[in-house]
Amino acid sequence: MPTVRTLALVIRSTEVFETSKVLTVFSRELGKVSAIAKGARRLKSPFHSALDLLSVCDMVLIHKGTDALDLVTEATLEERFDALKTDLEALYAGYYVAELLDGLTEHHVPHPKLFEAARVTLRHLADSRLRRHRVLRFELALLRELGHAPALENCVHCGRPIAPRDVQGNGEETNVAFGLSIGGVICAGCRPGQPHVAVLDGGTLTALRALAAPGGEWRNLDLSPESGRFGPLRGTVSAIISHLMGRRPHLLPYLGA
Ligand SMILES: [Zn+2]
Repeated sequence: MPTVRTLALVIRSTEVFETSKVLTVFSRELGKVSAIAKGARRLKSPFHSALDLLSVCDMVLIHKGTDALDLVTEATLEERFDALKTDLEALYAGYYVAELLDGLTEHHVPHPKLFEAARVTLRHLADSRLRRHRVLRFELALLRELGHAPALENCVHCGRPIAPRDVQGNGEETNVAFGLSIGGVICAGCRPGQPHVAVLDGGTLTALRALAAPGGEWRNLDLSPESGRFGPLRGTVSAIISHLMGRRPHLLPYLGA
């Protein structure tokens, strides 16, 4: 039975038996892993507080085989996102990140970039000004990493470029169809007959492009309540995520849309 040392984010924790915990962790080297930590709830546990939800810990795991829980033999705390504990909205956003990692990734499929994206997101969630931006950026990074990056530039069906202000050819901002099953924007010509279509206004498409792009342009987006921009953006990304997950994430109502 191979022993592996890995850096892991605790994304789910259930108390079992008298003193143990069953954990789901998202690990840099192994991806999602379910494991049991025996004695984790004893007062003098060797794991101390390393295995709290949303902790990042240096962990040693014994892999028991595909159908059995892995065994945690060592865990030391590497990073804790303390700011989340003093801000309920930030904490909910952190739980949402954990729920998506749990719900959308497969066991034992490593995604080191996604691990780093989650860690950076959790580190900065206490900054309320950019919190909504960061959660959306994380969702888009997650979709990209899992091979479901939404096509935002060209019609996903025929490849025709989609300009948010020029969909009808008269320079006026208008609605753009987004095919949830097909995973991207659809031009007016290809739209008829497409199932599961969400409708975006041109401004939402532009904002989505900024959030999905590298660089720092996303920081300049105004997602304040007054801007009216956040609701439609949140709705679109939530529809994409829910479609992929097969259900609405439980934490979605707590993201302040
Ligand atoms: Zn088309």
